[in-house]
Order: sequence, then C-alpha cells, then structure tokens
Amino acid sequence: MWPSRDGTTHPGTAPRGITPLEKPGIFAYMRRMQTVSAAPMPIPGHIDPVPVPRAPAAREDGRTDLIGLSRDGIREALAAAGLEPKQAKLRAKQLWHWIYNRGATDFSAMTDIAKAQHPWLAERFVIGRPDVVEAQVSNDGTRKWLLRSPDGQDYEMVFIPDADRGTLCVSSQVGCTLNCRFCHTGTMRLVRNLTAGEIVGQVMLARDSLGEWPSQPEGRLLTNIVMMGMGEPLYNFDEVKAGLQIVMDGDGLALSKRRITLSTSGVVPIMARAGEEIGVNLAVSLHAVTKEVRDEIVPLNKKYGIEELLQACADYPGANNARRITFEYVMLKDKNDSDADAHELVRLLRKYKLPAKVNLIPFNPWPGAPYECSTPERIRSFSNIVFEGGISAPVRTPRGRDIDAACGQLKTASEKKSRAQLDREAEEKFAALG
Ligand code: SF4
Repeated sequence: MWPSRDGTTHPGTAPRGITPLEKPGIFAYMRRMQTVSAAPMPIPGHIDPVPVPRAPAAREDGRTDLIGLSRDGIREALAAAGLEPKQAKLRAKQLWHWIYNRGATDFSAMTDIAKAQHPWLAERFVIGRPDVVEAQVSNDGTRKWLLRSPDGQDYEMVFIPDADRGTLCVSSQVGCTLNCRFCHTGTMRLVRNLTAGEIVGQVMLARDSLGEWPSQPEGRLLTNIVMMGMGEPLYNFDEVKAGLQIVMDGDGLALSKRRITLSTSGVVPIMARAGEEIGVNLAVSLHAVTKEVRDEIVPLNKKYGIEELLQACADYPGANNARRITFEYVMLKDKNDSDADAHELVRLLRKYKLPAKVNLIPFNPWPGAPYECSTPERIRSFSNIVFEGGISAPVRTPRGRDIDAACGQLKTASEKKSRAQLDREAEEKFAALG
C-alpha cells in the first residue's frame, strides 16, 4: 500500500519517487505548510527582492576556468589541486601575468613555468574565452559579437570605436527582468546572471580581436568600458564587482575606474554600494521626468521613484564635477520630448545639485517597438533648453544601427527554459553518451 497526495491509500508498490516515509499525515502537513507559505513573506527593511536566476552549469570537462578568479582565487585553486602553498602563490602570480598582460590561453606558452608542469595545469584548468557565434561589423566601424557560454546561453557585446577612444559595451546578464519598454533586451526574460569570468571574458575577447596583447598602458584601442549591454548590472552586483575588479587590477588589464561606467535603471538600494565597493562612474537610465511617463518607460520607477533615485545619485560616493553622473535620456516622439520635459529635467537636476551631464539618445527602433524616435528639431530644442540650464546635453550619434548594435537594440535568441526542460535535455544528452 502506498499513500497518494490526497491522503488516500493505493495497493501495490509506490511509483518511483514516492518513499515509504511519505505518509498521509505528512501530505496533510505539507498541504498546511503550502497554505501558510502562500502568504507574502515579510521582508525586513528596504531590501530589494533580487530575482535569483538559474546558476551556470559547471564545465563538462570538469576543469576550472581561471578567467574570473581573483589572484587569491587562482592561488587557492592551485593549492586545492595539490600545489604547496608557496608554489601556489608563485604560480598564481605568474599565471596572472600571462593571462592578463600577455593574453595567453595556452599553458605551454608560459615560458617561466616549468615545462613539466604545463600538462598538469592543462588537465585541471583552462583559460577560457566565450564562443563567438557571430561577429558583425557595422558600416560605421561598430562591431557586435554574439557570444555563447559553455552551457549554451547567448549574450552580446559591442565595441564602438571613436577618434579618441574605443568603448566596449559589456553585458551583465542573459536577458533582463526590468522590461524597459524602449529596450529590445527588455522583451527577453531573464535567463541567468553572467559570471565574473563571463564579464571579464568579454573584455579578453575584445582585446584578442583588436590585437591588444601584450597589454600596454598607452596607445590602446579599447580604452573605455560601459556596463550598458544586456541586463541590469546592479541585479548581478557580486559578479559585476568581481569582474570589474579584475579589469581594474593594476598588474593586469589595468583599466582605470575613471574609464569604466556602470549604468543602472535605478536600483536605488544598491547604488551606494556600487560607488563604495567598485568606485566606477555612474550612469542612470532616467528617460523621463514625470512619474506617469517613467512608470511606463522604466517600470522599476514604480518601486524606486524619480525623487528617491535622484537623492541616491546625490549621495553617490565619488561623484563630483570632475566625475559627473551621466543621465541617459532616450528621445521618444510625443512621449518624453516636450520643452516642458526639458525644463523639468533641468529643475530636477538642479534641485538635487547633481554634477550631471545628460546624454540624449535618439530612439533606436527594433521590430515591434512601441515608440518612434523624436524628430531632429525636437531633439535639438530639448538639448538647447538643457544646455541653457547650464547642463551639458549632447545628442549621441547612433552607432551600429544597421547591425542592431545600437543602444537598446541588443537581444539574443536565448530563452528561459524550465528546470524540467533542462533536466530532460541533460538526461537525453547523458543517454546519447551511452
Ligand atoms: S534598458 Fe537595461 S535594465 Fe532596462 S530592460 Fe534594457 S537591459 Fe534591462
């Protein structure tokens, strides 16, 4: 006899998955618990309920990717694999140099590490790069890469060359939870957070393709990084922080924090931490100056309103006139582009005494987008009003529109799969292996 979930009993052997421990009384208890846990859990304080997406799968070959580990992390991984502590420390230093100064991906190239140790390292570790599914070059020189993680998730990065700089737009998540209405990525569901390794991996791959090894402080093509690709970086804070710390490490990629900008849609409770613990420049996707319009364009506004967001900007550690906060403002026809909106923007930025510059972004359309771009005259008028208010408001030239690489256009075919579907796929794969 075996008990079913409705408390009745059945003759014969219990189906797979039902154990003798599962008694009718236990089901009744579980039902009670389900009823109790259906009530909303009280959240103490002002804590953001960050959605926890699926974790990345481990590499199939069982090796550890060194990209994304801190220097201490590399040392610990070597020690855990069996190296003496002193040797692990020395090897970690050598590996760091080869990986982040020389761009090495093969242990056999590491001439100051004993040859006999190369196979030992290669059996246990890998210096990975994301797989490139597609690389496109726009007619304005912008490059876009569609990348794939070892567990089959697709994400994008974009390199925008300019006369005096080269900016890499880096993704922090596959998909996004925030559904900003002007943004193509926002139409994807969140698939998962990218790891620190996948964030640093984008920078490494860009350096590979620009031929920027060995690393040099002068004459680089990749000079700036913006965390403005797919995803909301503050909803993946720990991995973004770990990744950017590697990018900023003076003995490695050595990109100054002044050349890195983190863009948020306004995750207010985490903004101060970003300033204190990462210390990079801040950009805010503002896009509207009234509650009604911002609630529509950036739905996160319903949770953290404009005033609260601007106060968090005023409190952002390290912001001053030399390091101004960038306010991104996408120009949407008849939605947020009136003269009154421009005046209100000036009033708000002044009210909070913000060291601000405003980036006006002509809307980049994508298939099915619910908005149109403002006319050039409207954008000019808006820009003039903000300039006259004493705030710099350049109009950003759209880049990479022909390859859907422009701001707000990134989207991949990655879709969120249910746990059951992923488990089924894993079973099928396992069965195919025999
Ligand atoms: S603008 Fe940024 S935060 Fe908003 S949906 Fe797009 S990727 Fe997400």
